[in-house]
Amino acid sequence: MEGISCDRCTKSLLIDEDVRYQVHIVVQAAYDPMEITKEDLKKSNPGSWSALMRQLEKLTEQEAQDQVHREFHFDLCPPCQKIYLENPLPAV
Ligand SMILES: [Zn+2]
Repeated sequence: MEGISCDRCTKSLLIDEDVRYQVHIVVQAAYDPMEITKEDLKKSNPGSWSALMRQLEKLTEQEAQDQVHREFHFDLCPPCQKIYLENPLPAV
């Protein structure tokens, strides 16, 4: 039987640790519908729609999905949780 392991250091969590932490990250496209004005709608013409469609056709199904919504689930041991909380978004 395969137990749960820390997604950062791969340590087994069920045997070695009493506590484990779950990280749930959701990355989704954000937009404000109020920002779409009548002028924007006038500007959108069949030409720009077909350009958009051509753009979408170049993407794989996964790539198109990733542009809108992506979720990650991780299990962390206590030491890795501490390290993660110190820097959840490392700079590039
Ligand atoms: Zn760990």
